[in-house]
Amino acid sequence: MSRVLPHTDRILMGPGPGNPYPEVMEAFSRPVIGHLDPEFIALLDETNERLREVFRTTNPLTFPVSATGSAGMEATIVNTVGPGDTIVIGVNGVFGERMCDVAVRCGAEVVRVDAKWGMALDQEELLAAHPSPKVIALVHAETSTGVRNDVAGIGTGKGDTLLLVDCVTSLGGIPLEVDAWGIDLAYSGTQKCIGVPPGISPVTVSAAAIERFVDRSPSWYLDFAMITAYVTGGEARAYHHTAPISMIYALHAGLGVLLTEGLQNVHARHQACGDQLQSGLVERGFDLFAEEGHRLPELTAVRVPDERLPRGMGEADIRRLLLERYGIEIGGGLGPVAGKVWRIGCMGHTARQRNVTMLLGALDELLV
Ligand code: PLP
Repeated sequence: MSRVLPHTDRILMGPGPGNPYPEVMEAFSRPVIGHLDPEFIALLDETNERLREVFRTTNPLTFPVSATGSAGMEATIVNTVGPGDTIVIGVNGVFGERMCDVAVRCGAEVVRVDAKWGMALDQEELLAAHPSPKVIALVHAETSTGVRNDVAGIGTGKGDTLLLVDCVTSLGGIPLEVDAWGIDLAYSGTQKCIGVPPGISPVTVSAAAIERFVDRSPSWYLDFAMITAYVTGGEARAYHHTAPISMIYALHAGLGVLLTEGLQNVHARHQACGDQLQSGLVERGFDLFAEEGHRLPELTAVRVPDERLPRGMGEADIRRLLLERYGIEIGGGLGPVAGKVWRIGCMGHTARQRNVTMLLGALDELLV
């Protein structure tokens, strides 16, 4: 009989999900109560408070959207730009491209600022791309390339333009300062550095962004005006949708792990793993894909060393053998770098030096 779940031995070093924290998996086993039960509401409120701490914001409108990271992307865009609005979007990978796709569907005028894959976006170019856009949007941590795009300079120079940032792969992995950097809308995903399985998109929205919401979001489910009453309505909470109770337990627990360890310590742990991995790869003659000075510790993109693949094997064979023999998952490339790079994650509970040591050792055994 073929093997059936669970693969308890898997080390998830792909572009996400990372391994969840044990406390998170324990949270899933808690009894399910009603989504309007006062105890659940209290837990949701505490989850929102924890999200504010991790996002480093005091925004009252900070909450988990009940869907994956792409829903956070869509929610932040669909509530802020409509027909006739201009949005400048930085594109240096798959997820900047996805933002453009969402904004075009909203009828917005999209002004793209492109950078080569592997290179960081130029903040000055983003600021100069249009004289008065409603929104400037970019991805903080581009998971398709392993590049960190700087954000703070855009916040300083943007005037009353809204700043929208994808923090799916940055939240809980590298420093992020929503208020101090002038970010108006940010969204993330649970499956990366927060160490929770996929399924929730934490979102935070500034008062300035709320003032400038479109009159009526074309999306019913993602209409912030309606969700707000559910999330922050106090005693008068109105039903909007049935919250995914167990996922909220899990998110609450994951955020608890981060805050107990301390954000600085969590960032330092991710950085130490990224450094160990990247220097180990360079020592072995590998070529890192992301521009130096903008490399993410939590996601390393490395060029496939074609000359070191055993005869007759492709890069996908090495990834398959890593999984079959060592239980280690790494990711392949997307779009124009499919087949050309590997993407290696050190996210959440996976960001442990022993995992990096194991992967480097396994690569030594598999490559020639
Ligand atoms: N943005 C970034 C930077 C991502 O890495 C991802 C997923 O990998 C997304 C958005 C979309 O998130 P999801 O797959 O959870 O919908």
